[in-house]
Amino acid sequence: MAASCLQLKVRPFKAPFPSKSPSPPRWGIIRCSATSTTKRYTITLLPGDGIGPEVISVAKDVLIVAGSQEGIEFRFQEMPVGGAALDLTGVPLPDETLSMAKQSDAILLGAIGGYFQFSIFNFHFQLMYKWDNNEKHLKPETGLLQLRAGLGVFANLRPASVFPQLVDSSTLKKEVAEGVDLIVVRELTGGIYFGKPRGFTTNEKGEEIGFNTEVYATYEIDRIARVAFETARKRRGKLCSVDKANVLEASMLWRKRVTTMASEYPDIELSHMYVDNAAMQLIRNPKQFDTIVTNNIFGDILSDEASMITGSIGMLPSASLGETGPGLFEPIHGSAPDIAGQIEVYCVPCDAYLDKANPLATVLSVVMLLKYGLREENAAKRIENAVMDTLTRGFRTGDIYSTGKVHTVVQSVIHLKLFNFWNIYALGKFKLIPASRKLFSLHPSVYRFLTFPLPLIETVNC
Ligand code: NAD
Repeated sequence: MAASCLQLKVRPFKAPFPSKSPSPPRWGIIRCSATSTTKRYTITLLPGDGIGPEVISVAKDVLIVAGSQEGIEFRFQEMPVGGAALDLTGVPLPDETLSMAKQSDAILLGAIGGYFQFSIFNFHFQLMYKWDNNEKHLKPETGLLQLRAGLGVFANLRPASVFPQLVDSSTLKKEVAEGVDLIVVRELTGGIYFGKPRGFTTNEKGEEIGFNTEVYATYEIDRIARVAFETARKRRGKLCSVDKANVLEASMLWRKRVTTMASEYPDIELSHMYVDNAAMQLIRNPKQFDTIVTNNIFGDILSDEASMITGSIGMLPSASLGETGPGLFEPIHGSAPDIAGQIEVYCVPCDAYLDKANPLATVLSVVMLLKYGLREENAAKRIENAVMDTLTRGFRTGDIYSTGKVHTVVQSVIHLKLFNFWNIYALGKFKLIPASRKLFSLHPSVYRFLTFPLPLIETVNC
């Protein structure tokens, strides 16, 4: 399909409720004392499905603000992927999306995947995922795999660090979770998810069977191992390679190659672990890990497990990098159909409806985008500081809330911090309205009457 044709069909992405009111925020005049624009980058935004568009809109705003403070201008191009693309074009990854993504400096993805819908079957209501009954090549997840393969992003970096402020949100005991700071380097474009042959057939008894192939070539193992050794070098110098070399031939080659490559990195302490043990050790003593390198399927599972140590999947970013070309940055969570489109609170100072979804995984993906994708360390640091400060001040979304904290939305707070509005906040010129069930039960328009007028701000010290 021609690009122009797609353009005609593409409609603006819109959350199923107004995420921002039509009127501009009542923040007064902001004259940022930041530098003039010196650098320009093109970012492809792929909001996707479910909470994807919600978290991407927050991350985009944050990127714009942090960029303006560092003299960086971002040009955004928004393209469909996953279920959104299926509805729009009939395929989960239109050629135009891939080609525009390839031409940009970095790609920021929300999430893909179906949302719940009701269907009536024998007078029962049934919950099911939209697109679940599609053929495999027409499922949203296929679009994601095609995107990763098309971009050649073979290395997926997934940090899992327990923020000191969120140690109580972990499901593990405080003494186990405290201080955990690890990163999983997952091979992303090989292994059983892509290996051939694959498919369905029948066995000699006539029974239907499904089969897949776990396959790795030497060059695939070498290049991911190199990324892992380099990553470990920038961290605490410890690398644990996870495999199943006691059973699988592909893992035996994996272990052999990683061991061979270790000679190039004498400063890195290399260890090997079977995946079943690694799954156990991650819960028993996660602090023993610094950098973990593993194949596609083991990395998929272990990084999700690691995410739970930190408290919420809504906090974890990821970066996917190739040898050349732009990187792909995305939260590790899915489209969270159970909370998509749900409003947590109406935020008075932002004059906006804010969502239940925690945007921090995507905001922290922006940090990785700036660090690993664009090498813009200063802008990355600004956002990182804003996130840390927000958490230190006790602001929480529902998924990371614990007793005694201010249950409010993080989105607004990040904006405020980036604009250095905390001074105003401290002076008590306005209040954030906490989300409580009582407030939630009122119509958002009621809160408009509670707004405190903001004084005009002449200059904000960015
Ligand atoms: P999920 O990550 O979407 O949700 C798991 C749980 O975590 C849910 O209870 C959800 O409410 C919660 N959660 C996730 N993100 C959150 C956030 N930012 N803030 C607060 N809570 C959050 O996983 P799932 O339910 O297994 O999958 C739903 C859909 O997402 C499926 O269609 C699946 O295929 C897809 N998926 C996509 C990706 C991706 O786009 N990379 C990854 C995983 C799953």
